[in-house]
Amino acid sequence: MKKCTECKKGEMLELSAKTPEGFEYNYFKCNNCDEEILNMKQLHTVAQKYREMKRFNAKISLWGMSLGIRIPKELSKKYNLKENHEVAIIPEKEGMKIIPI
Ligand SMILES: [Zn+2]
Repeated sequence: MKKCTECKKGEMLELSAKTPEGFEYNYFKCNNCDEEILNMKQLHTVAQKYREMKRFNAKISLWGMSLGIRIPKELSKKYNLKENHEVAIIPEKEGMKIIPI
């Protein structure tokens, strides 16, 4: 067991939590003074998850009676999307997932 470097009395317990984006990560928390730390491995893991979740912004526009979004070039390349390709739109709790079919 790791001793707490802050109060020098407690033990650091490994716990897990979620970032606001929903990434689970581990951290250590002192069972005496509540000091919380991440070691380099834990920090690396959560940083890697953030890097993988690169965000793209797109504006919604009106196309006829429907709404459309422009897919950024980088993403259409990555997923090999071409004009007239069909995709599946899967509703999820906090948004939609677009799957090439
Ligand atoms: Zn402590």
